[in-house]
Amino acid sequence: MQPQHAASHEVQLTVSSINASGPQELSSRTTVRVVELHGPGSVRAAERVVPNGGALLQVETTGVCGTDHHIYAGRLTVPTPQLLGHEVIGRIMRLPDDHGLVLGDDADGAPGVGDRVLVAPGVPCGDCEGCARAERCLDRPCYGLTMLGDGLTGGFAPLMELHAGTRVFRVPEDTPRERAVFAEPLACVLSALRKAFGPGYVPEGMDGLVLGFGAIGIVAATAIAAAGGRATVVERDPGRRALAQELGFAAVADTSAVPHRMALVVDAAGTPTAFAAALDLLAWSGTLIEIGNFADLGPIPIKPSEICLRDLRIVGSGETFYEDFAPAIRLVSETPVELPRAITDVHAFAALEDPAELFAAPAAGKALVAFA
Ligand SMILES: [Zn+2]
Ligand SMILES: [Zn+2]
Repeated sequence: MQPQHAASHEVQLTVSSINASGPQELSSRTTVRVVELHGPGSVRAAERVVPNGGALLQVETTGVCGTDHHIYAGRLTVPTPQLLGHEVIGRIMRLPDDHGLVLGDDADGAPGVGDRVLVAPGVPCGDCEGCARAERCLDRPCYGLTMLGDGLTGGFAPLMELHAGTRVFRVPEDTPRERAVFAEPLACVLSALRKAFGPGYVPEGMDGLVLGFGAIGIVAATAIAAAGGRATVVERDPGRRALAQELGFAAVADTSAVPHRMALVVDAAGTPTAFAAALDLLAWSGTLIEIGNFADLGPIPIKPSEICLRDLRIVGSGETFYEDFAPAIRLVSETPVELPRAITDVHAFAALEDPAELFAAPAAGKALVAFA
């Protein structure tokens, strides 16, 4: 399907894939099935009303993130009831004149009905000091994580509302969803690399060690490879280790098998122990990118003198910058790394009997929810 850039921002009323009963008109009573989180270990299918006004996205695919698993397991707390799903790709299906969406990095023109886009999950609040100064928002509500209300504010639903101020980024029509779904996690990694090294991300030819080969590890290794460096993966799980090798990366089971200290270590393993191990693995003046410990799993002893005497640098990263989404979309589209092979779980939303299936176990690679 080619994107239609509707000149008049006309409202498309027909949704062919909302439910099994076939095409129907959006009326004030149209509802869609969503996945609601009610607390740790508690998700339910529910019906929510499609808002009458405002911009609307027909969701194509939403990635299941490690963060979603942390939330489901109670290791991270979000307001409930919550519609999870923050790694969202879809097509703009309704766009009123006062939509207030921002396309890309401001240089891409205006969004249009039919555009296939990735949604940046964080939306500026409009209220804080940062927003008042037209700088970075200090408190961005996130689709699928922290947005309140009874609207369609998460990606585990066939339709999603797009609030004014939301940034959307065009996704090429020929980028398969099995690649596109890696763009949001890659944007997180690129923002971490930007914080460490500037807008060039990984310095040309720098080798790196990646701890953990979940989705973040996969895209971190891909970013190192894109800069011409060699990525070595440390992953205990034999299936994930085999996947790393299949994608072309060196992989070892344990940090003891890492041959020498490295200038760059990316901790994407998500445990405090991995953080301590990562410090040990850094060469003199090396950089540790800490992008694994998103949930508080407790303290770990480290020797601060190591940081001091060996000139180590630790860069943590929680915020994803808007300027890193377009480069992420480009990289997942163009990398020779066969990212689609890392999609190990595809959940067809329409066939989902119990939404808890989404969180039953972490995927061996990356999981996505497919709509239509
Ligand atoms: Zn995520
Ligand atoms: Zn703000």
